[in-house]
Amino acid sequence: MDILIKRPWVVTQDASRRIIKKDVFVSGNTIDEIGDSIGVRAEYRIDAEGMILAPGLINTHTHVAMGSMRGIADDVPLGKFLEKTFAIDAKRTEQDIHSSSIMGMREMVRTGTTSFLDLYYSEDIIAKAAKRMGLRAFLSWVVLDKDKTTQKGNPKDNAENFIKRFRSRKPALINAGVGLQGIYVCNDDTISAAADIAERYNTVIPMHVSETNVEVDNVKKEHGHGVVEHLDKLGVLNKRFVAVHTVHVSEKEVKLLAETAAVSHNPISNMKLGNGAAPIHEMSKSRVNVTLGTDSVASNNNLDMFSTMKFASLLQKNRMGDASELSAQRVLDFATINAAKALGYGNRLGSVEEGKLADLILIDPYPNAIPLSRSSIVSNMVYAVSGLNVDTTIVDGVPLMLGKEQSKM
Ligand SMILES: [Zn+2]
Repeated sequence: MDILIKRPWVVTQDASRRIIKKDVFVSGNTIDEIGDSIGVRAEYRIDAEGMILAPGLINTHTHVAMGSMRGIADDVPLGKFLEKTFAIDAKRTEQDIHSSSIMGMREMVRTGTTSFLDLYYSEDIIAKAAKRMGLRAFLSWVVLDKDKTTQKGNPKDNAENFIKRFRSRKPALINAGVGLQGIYVCNDDTISAAADIAERYNTVIPMHVSETNVEVDNVKKEHGHGVVEHLDKLGVLNKRFVAVHTVHVSEKEVKLLAETAAVSHNPISNMKLGNGAAPIHEMSKSRVNVTLGTDSVASNNNLDMFSTMKFASLLQKNRMGDASELSAQRVLDFATINAAKALGYGNRLGSVEEGKLADLILIDPYPNAIPLSRSSIVSNMVYAVSGLNVDTTIVDGVPLMLGKEQSKM
């Protein structure tokens, strides 16, 4: 399938962050050519004059199968939140998980997310939903101690079996992997076992890390240091590791993260659960590879990465008392090229460049009447646009939404 996109403003996210008015030609699953007046015939020809073409956004923390749990645990702290959601999880059927996943994926397509890193059990069912919807999915089967799970069998065996069944050669749409729930339900052996699976199959491994004060205080009482330091001592931090949340981390831990893992910053979930503000200013300064996630719709309550970009920036500006803090360009980097790198797709995703995979979005500047001037396109993308401005979503060269009409149900 070929797609010719005529005359959009292209927010390339290339090395010099160029914004150019060009035609973009997609052939198969790849961006084949970016140029002036490309005249080839294509199956789809999109007149994108007056629209913004950008790399699809990458959400590095979801529990997409919780799509039906929106609003079930609002205005309660994390402890109560987990109690409520775990109780529902224990009773869910395969059909529930499948239909909730479709619901979440439809929202992602609608709001311009093209790749997501998911952490949950039953990722085999979620993989089927992702195949149907056509999104690029990084699915990490969640591992926790055997005596603390509602999963049948041992979570680490379930994770490995899932990877064996679904793994495929990169670049792929379904990227099967393993993840960890959090240190509060994962002992050292469990953490090491999951890290070993990630190493053997070369997959990313996300884990909730230092999300709350309570979590960190408990680890400090037992070990005398924070969660990140503990993970470092276990030897599990590396370029495959995605530390999710990292709200309560020391200066030393920020340095450790800079040398090893990526971070998934989830500002809306953190604020909504009253967990605090992650030190993203410090992380950026230390060159930690920061990415962005929504978390589930139970703690967000949507999957709109545009609002996550905005909140991320505003939270640091407010925290540091400095309006120049965490610029729009920087948060757009978090949601595109940084995230691509964290997922091991740095040379294939995250920017609009010839040879890269065609995971693209077109943003319609109306009804907000966003001025299309080169100097303000990126800041308006972050501060003015919502996911509902997205007009077209293309993943792997396939339009999943065209002119706001979704092709897959
Ligand atoms: Zn989470």
